[in-house]
Amino acid sequence: METTKNSGRRSVMLSVVVPCYNELDGISELHRRVTAACLAQGPSYEIVLVIDGATDGTRDAIFQLAEKDDHVVAIDLARNYGHQIALTAGLEFCRGQRILILDADLQDPPELLGAMMAKMNEGFDVVYGQRIKRDGESWFKLASASMFYRLLGRMVDVDIAPNSGDFRLMSRRALDHLNAMPERYRFIRGMVSWIGLKQVAFPYERHRRFAGTTHYPLKKMVLLAVDAMTSFSIAPLRFASLLGMMFGLLGLVVLGYTLVEWSLGNVLPGWTSLAAIMLILGSVQLMVLGIFGEYLGRMYMETKRRPLYFVDEIVSRRPAVLDDEDLPVHRLQEMAKRAARG
Ligand code: UDP
Ligand code: MG
Repeated sequence: METTKNSGRRSVMLSVVVPCYNELDGISELHRRVTAACLAQGPSYEIVLVIDGATDGTRDAIFQLAEKDDHVVAIDLARNYGHQIALTAGLEFCRGQRILILDADLQDPPELLGAMMAKMNEGFDVVYGQRIKRDGESWFKLASASMFYRLLGRMVDVDIAPNSGDFRLMSRRALDHLNAMPERYRFIRGMVSWIGLKQVAFPYERHRRFAGTTHYPLKKMVLLAVDAMTSFSIAPLRFASLLGMMFGLLGLVVLGYTLVEWSLGNVLPGWTSLAAIMLILGSVQLMVLGIFGEYLGRMYMETKRRPLYFVDEIVSRRPAVLDDEDLPVHRLQEMAKRAARG
C-alpha cells in the first residue's frame, strides 16, 4: 500500500524503534510487551533497540535478547549521543513499512499499537500520541512543558502539537521524508510535523516510568527547547532588531527629556541614570550577541558535516539485516568490522 524507494528492501511490515539509555530494569518487560503487541498485528515485525552508550548493563541485556529472538536488532552506538540522535539511528536503520517510535521506559503503552494501526488504515501517514493525562510527572515538568509549547507555537510556522512526545506511528513514506533531513540539531517531533502529509492526533494516557528515573534533567530539557526554537524559527534573531528599535526609541525619549531639563537650567546629577542605562544596554547587547551566537554556533557545527553518530556493533540473528545497499557509508564500515569479527 505504501510504495516508496525502500519497498525494494527486504522489508518487514512493522518496525518498533526504541532508544535505550540506562534502562536495565525495564528491558525484559519492554521486550515482552512490545512482542505481544507486535504479534497481535502479524509475524512480520522487527524491534530495533538502539543502545545509546549505556553504562549499567543495558547493553548486555539487549545483546542477549537479540541473540535469542530473531525479531530483535540491537544497535550499539559508539557512545552516548542523546535521545534524539539515538532515535535517528534506529529510524535510519529500520526497514518496516510502518514504524512505531517508543520510549524504553514504557511510559507510552505499546498496547495502543492496534488502535494506532487502525487509525493509520483510515489513510493517515502519521498517528502521533497526544497525552491527555500524565502520571507521575512533577508539576514543574508539566508547567514548563506547557509554557514551552505555547512559546514554540507562537514562534514557529508549523503546527507542533502540544503535549505530544515522540511516541507515534509513521508510514514508510513519512519516515523516508524524515530521514532525508540531514540536520544535526534534531527535534524529531517538530521535524515530523514540518513534513506535512496527513497527520492525526491520538489521545492517550501517559503512565509512570516502569523502572528507573528520567534521563531528561532540567539542563537537557532546556537544551532540547533551544534546539526546537532555533531549528524551527529565526524569530529570536528578529527579536534582536526589535529590542534595538525599542531601546532606540527609549533613548530618544530620554534625550528629549534631558534637553528640556537643560534648557530650563536644571542641571541633572546624572550619574545614577547614566549607570542604569549603561547596565541595561550592556546586558541587552550581550543577550542579543548570545542569541546570534546560538545560531552561529549551530551553523558552525552543521557545516562540519560530520555523521550524526557512529555504530559500534550491530547484533541480529538475521544476516540479511546487515546487507543493505541503502545504508549510509559510515554504517557499512561498522558492519564490515562486525562481519570481520565473525
Ligand atoms: N534516552 C536515550 N539517550 C539519552 C537519554 C535518554 O536514548 O541520553 C532514551 C531513554 O532510554 C528513553 C527515552 O530516551 O527510552 C526517553 O528518555 P526518558 O524516559 O528519560 O525521558 P522522559 O520520558 O522523562 O522525558
Ligand atoms: Mg520517559
